[in-house]
Amino acid sequence: MSTQAKRENPVQEKENKENGFAGNQTQTMGKTLAPPPFQLQTDPVQRKEDESEETVQKKDPTPKNSYADATPAQEAIIQKAFDKARPIMSVAINKLATAAADPKKMDAGTKALLQRHFHTTDGDHVKEILKKMRTIKSHLDTGINFEVENEAGNTLGYVYKFLFWHVGKIHIVFPLYQNSSEETQIGTIIHEVAHRFTGVADKAYVWQSEYATLSRKDAMNNADSYASFAMEANGRSAR
Ligand SMILES: [Zn+2]
Repeated sequence: MSTQAKRENPVQEKENKENGFAGNQTQTMGKTLAPPPFQLQTDPVQRKEDESEETVQKKDPTPKNSYADATPAQEAIIQKAFDKARPIMSVAINKLATAAADPKKMDAGTKALLQRHFHTTDGDHVKEILKKMRTIKSHLDTGINFEVENEAGNTLGYVYKFLFWHVGKIHIVFPLYQNSSEETQIGTIIHEVAHRFTGVADKAYVWQSEYATLSRKDAMNNADSYASFAMEANGRSAR
């Protein structure tokens, strides 16, 4: 089989290039991040009998994505994966919410998934993971600003970092993205949105052997853990 495509995050390199930093900020990223100030609880919308359509739409608007530098074909490819990412996140969130509500009664499947991707089944940890998953979903529901890059290499997507914050658009790299599996296309969006809006780092990719031996803390601070948990919670491959 061909080599697995990497979701490399060339953040540090580009950041240094653009801002002239000496560059050991990555050591402190993740652990010092405050939660984004705009966390929305959006899923799932409970439609009540007396709610007007307008009210419901305010709560669960159609995401408004933007696409910079994208051809119509590239936009369609990203949009298709994006549309699948939202229900995948909902399923993952529902499993986590059920687990968080009564950790002692957590089902074996959810327990195994948590153990594999986050190396914990502790109730407080599950709540923390759930919170980040909801943040990711809320931004998918609002809409994402994508920017397409056309360049060779094994990077599928990235976001920039300025000091301790991820900033700017979600960059998706072609042609690798379109040559990747649907799972990878969906997972890349979740992975990059996790970086951008929850501040988590890259500690290991799911296909790397280190993934299994990350500390609990690192696993919870790892973008691929969120993307991979979400995919496998839907019975999909993480890659
Ligand atoms: Zn990454």
